[in-house]
Amino acid sequence: MSKPEHVVIIGAGIIGAASAYQLVRAGIQVTLIEPGIPGDEQASSYGNAGWLSSHSVLPPASPGIWMQVPKWLADPLGPLSVRWKYFPRALPWLIRYLSAAWTYPQVERTAQGLRSLLRDAPALHKEMATQAGVPELIEQRGLLHAFLSREEFQKDARAWAIRKNEGIAWQELDADALHALEPDLDTRYTFGVLVPETGSCRNPGAYTAALIRYAQTQGAALTQARATGFRIEQGRLKAVLTDQGEVLCDRAVIAAGARAKVLAQEAGDQVSLETERGYHAVVQAPEASPRTPTMFADCKVIVSPMDQGLRVAGQVEIASTDDTPDWRRAEILRDHLLTLYPTLPRSLSADRLNLWMGRRPSTPDGLPCIGVASGSPDIIHAYGHGHVGLVSSARTGRLVAQLAQGQPPEIPLKPFSPQRFH
Ligand SMILES: Cc1cc2nc3c(=O)[nH]c(=O)nc-3n(C[C@H](O)[C@H](O)[C@H](O)COP(=O)(O)OP(=O)(O)OC[C@H]3O[C@@H](n4cnc5c(N)ncnc54)[C@H](O)[C@@H]3O)c2cc1C
Repeated sequence: MSKPEHVVIIGAGIIGAASAYQLVRAGIQVTLIEPGIPGDEQASSYGNAGWLSSHSVLPPASPGIWMQVPKWLADPLGPLSVRWKYFPRALPWLIRYLSAAWTYPQVERTAQGLRSLLRDAPALHKEMATQAGVPELIEQRGLLHAFLSREEFQKDARAWAIRKNEGIAWQELDADALHALEPDLDTRYTFGVLVPETGSCRNPGAYTAALIRYAQTQGAALTQARATGFRIEQGRLKAVLTDQGEVLCDRAVIAAGARAKVLAQEAGDQVSLETERGYHAVVQAPEASPRTPTMFADCKVIVSPMDQGLRVAGQVEIASTDDTPDWRRAEILRDHLLTLYPTLPRSLSADRLNLWMGRRPSTPDGLPCIGVASGSPDIIHAYGHGHVGLVSSARTGRLVAQLAQGQPPEIPLKPFSPQRFH
């Protein structure tokens, strides 16, 4: 396949932004189509936890997880909720979700695929951020997992063994070492695991916007529109259709996050993609904070110091993409935060707190869709990154640029085949 003349990227979240970055660096003309402001609140890329967690190689489900689901659903402070009126529509995806991680060999295969995508991610992000003029947004402080006890960590030993097999190293911290590292942390937590190889982003929305700005300085165009489909003639792409008319091009990238499913169908592929909604709460000018971004195994929240304040992120809510947010889910996160760092004030005035809801674009097996479309070799799928879209965006952008130019991809793409759900 020859070098493309004009690539249209549908969606300016972090996946579209990283793809645009790589394509303009290869000297290719790019147009981004995006109905909102790049990196703004409509994108999942705006409000995530900022983890550049190259060790996040496990799928969200795990063998035996189904036994915990009733307990989580019954717990008003639990990490999982379902809008019951949407349940029948989500059921096929939920069944695939559980069955994709039914056995440990399945989880190991997923881990191999994800590791190939995530390896070196912090360094790749640092390089992109530096080129885009925002190196300070990417930090390399490692990430901490906090446990109530060593026994709680050991319950998850199988998962950590899979990480070890993928070459991931960590340091174990007893209570004294944990609290020396994190003096503001609640003393109920007595065991920690620090993963030094991983990084974090202080402001994922600003990072996304900076990459798009960089692409624009290199000649990329940004069109405010919503893509609706493709004009394909004899298998070759002629244009992307939008609500503002068509945009002529010879390649297109579907990077529309949680809204990619309909476009994938237009490109000839039925993919299994659901919205796993998540929330964040940000406390401005916090009185206490972790030094290192921290994941709490018991309540399944991530706490990260960010440019905007102290962000607590998490929750999985299965609901339709356009359903209204249930702000109680974000308030649960806030309440967890106040107990995790007891020197935060018990009540926070509304002007110090921001709440947000985002849409993780999630496949049931935890692997994104990256590859060429069935309907035309000129259309590239790049979505479905679920819980790891920020960290995996750097290599995804490189893969998109390689596919668009007909070059062999730098890692095997079989695990990410968009056709695996057919
Ligand atoms: C609470 C929470 C915490 C998270 N924490 C982390 C983390 O710590 N680390 C990590 O790696 N990941 C994390 N994630 C996941 C990560 O945020 C997502 O996987 C990632 O942002 C997905 O990026 P995207 O570009 O595919 O989608 P998005 O960021 O959602 O961008 C898609 C864009 O496409 C646009 N679009 C949609 N439809 C169309 C259309 N028809 N035409 C044109 N444009 C369209 C949208 O407006 C949007 O701007 C988290 C997610 C959530 C919700």
